[in-house]
Amino acid sequence: MNYDCDVVIVGSGAAGLYCALNLPSRLRIQIITKRAADESDSFLAQGGICVLRGEEDYDDFFADTMHAGHGENNPRAVDQMIRFSNSVVRDLFARGVRFETEASGAFRYTREGAHSRPRILYHKDITGAEITSVLLSEVRKLENVTIRENVTMLDLLSEENQCGGLVIADEHGETKILTAPITVLCCGGLGGLYQNTTNFPHISGDALAISLKNGVALQNMDYIQVHPTTLYSEKPGRRFLISESVRGEGAYLYDKNFNRFTDELLPRDKLTKVIWNQMEKDGTSHVWEDMRPIGKEMILEHFPNIYEHCLSVGINVLEELIPVVPAQHYFMGGIQVNLASQTSMRGLYACGETSCNGVHGLNRLASNSLLESLVFAQRAAEDIAFGSAHAGGCSNEQVDLSAYEDRDALFATYRQMVLDEIERMKQSHE
Ligand SMILES: Cc1cc2nc3c(=O)[nH]c(=O)nc-3n(C[C@H](O)[C@H](O)[C@H](O)COP(=O)(O)OP(=O)(O)OC[C@H]3O[C@@H](n4cnc5c(N)ncnc54)[C@H](O)[C@@H]3O)c2cc1C
Repeated sequence: MNYDCDVVIVGSGAAGLYCALNLPSRLRIQIITKRAADESDSFLAQGGICVLRGEEDYDDFFADTMHAGHGENNPRAVDQMIRFSNSVVRDLFARGVRFETEASGAFRYTREGAHSRPRILYHKDITGAEITSVLLSEVRKLENVTIRENVTMLDLLSEENQCGGLVIADEHGETKILTAPITVLCCGGLGGLYQNTTNFPHISGDALAISLKNGVALQNMDYIQVHPTTLYSEKPGRRFLISESVRGEGAYLYDKNFNRFTDELLPRDKLTKVIWNQMEKDGTSHVWEDMRPIGKEMILEHFPNIYEHCLSVGINVLEELIPVVPAQHYFMGGIQVNLASQTSMRGLYACGETSCNGVHGLNRLASNSLLESLVFAQRAAEDIAFGSAHAGGCSNEQVDLSAYEDRDALFATYRQMVLDEIERMKQSHE
């Protein structure tokens, strides 16, 4: 069969881009993405990326990840993520990603909730933009990779549990078929399904609905992380994150009487519950976060993005408190994959936030997700390059493209399918 390309990757976040960068140059690759290439949650990451700080840190890093995940993590996935962290970070550095360093040139590490020691590399408070823009510019240099912006996956082409590519809405909005023996889903989380979220609204769990429709196994769909501290606003739209590393560097949380009420470095799920309880007790719509203990110099150096954003809405964090409230942030569940990022369907891989290899268990440890996206995207690329069992393709002659013309109805159905599956899995976990 003549395919349109050898590998189609859906999504241009950290996972999709890093997968493309790790695939052999002999392969013809298309990356499709729903919006502009830089409109992904990967660009929004603030805090940083975890890395193993030498062999003596292994047990603690492992224990911190398992503890945050309530022990529900897949220990083999955790081991793999930690073990590959040094080589992935070295690769990022070699590609030109800038992490903060000490005067000696050694990496500088920050800390977030539930970490027993600082092990997070960062670039100001825009680590995601730093990493992902470098990956994007590296991919743009590759002759074997085409990035197609404003192209949306509408469905998988599948036959007898074998994937052969996609049904897409192309750059002109036309329904087309895009054939490939290998498809990699890197579609991010599902924040777009929620009103209060830190995610881009277009990142709305499409790959989850499409997997459900095609019989691809999903896992832990109800494992949804709420971030304890986002900037409170009465306006609709994406919630601005006040990174956990702000608390890691010494910010305090206050109740309505400006008293501390908790350990600011509790794991995210526990802190969220404490904040919700406090808001209920106080009858308020937010609590307060105080960045002043961090000090002006550190705020301006480490958190310029947060400083500027708060200033733009009238809050000078050097002098004033920030109203903060929990909001949907991250998705620990997803398309079930093994350690090579293979899904239950032949020819179909998934990596990054849309996938679930069990690395995060019930609750993700801060700054493990960029790392997970990169490590398991690399694993997918290696499996595609060295394995053969998963490829094959399928015939596509039976597809009725008219079924995809009413996009609003299609995506409303997809949205409801995901919400129903979350509810179903929630009940099965109770
Ligand atoms: C505000 C914020 C701060 C964060 N801070 C950190 C942090 O400090 N450290 C950390 O480790 N993690 C952090 N995270 C989480 C982390 O950024 C994400 O988990 C990770 O970047 C996910 O990468 P990804 O490649 O899987 O998905 P994304 O980067 O979300 O990319 C998804 C891609 O899929 C595309 N897509 C989706 N559906 C379709 C479709 N139907 N058709 C075509 N394309 C589609 C999108 O357009 C996009 O290109 C943060 C997240 C947010 C939102």
